[in-house]
Amino acid sequence: MVEPLFCNTDDRSIVYRFVSDLFHVCTYFVVDDEKVIIVDPGKMNDDVYEWLLQFNEIDKIIYITHEHFDHHFDVNLMLRYPRTSVCFHSDNFASAILNTRKNLSHYYNMPVETTCNQISIFNYFHVIATPGHSELSYCFRYKNLLFGGDTVIEKEYLVLKLPGSDKAKFKESVLSLRNNIEINTVVLPGHGNVFCFDKWII
Ligand SMILES: [Zn+2]
Repeated sequence: MVEPLFCNTDDRSIVYRFVSDLFHVCTYFVVDDEKVIIVDPGKMNDDVYEWLLQFNEIDKIIYITHEHFDHHFDVNLMLRYPRTSVCFHSDNFASAILNTRKNLSHYYNMPVETTCNQISIFNYFHVIATPGHSELSYCFRYKNLLFGGDTVIEKEYLVLKLPGSDKAKFKESVLSLRNNIEINTVVLPGHGNVFCFDKWII
């Protein structure tokens, strides 16, 4: 089920969330009159696709916080829908999500090879490289929101022991985030509940 989380009074957008059966990845949808921004389309179900039909006439732009397969499981499927594209941040990223070892799907015996043919010409997010949880982790700031992926996330969900994890880089990323993100920013993490950036304890 896609659930409305809150209304962003600044721009009258509505933020929705879907929690996947696969590792409880949170997918977010920021909907306004012109577009739907989709962050981390994990493994969805039919309800989500039915709900998305109402947006056939407007652009849908997908963002992926990092290369791990559970955060982009359904991108190939989603790109079959009209006016849907992906916004990328580096060429390395495109090859990592295609590579079942780099995206870790090989180790779970459910190979995911995400190939993105439709690249968005628009970028709505301020993209912050935050390596640590993985080599190619990013956080996205959008107005008063921060999409934290598996980086800005409650301590119980933080994982720094996967192939590609790097604790020293994670520390640097935390410092950079603390210096650049307003404390009253609303964090929408890749797993778990929404929280305020000043409550981020790691
Ligand atoms: Zn991850």
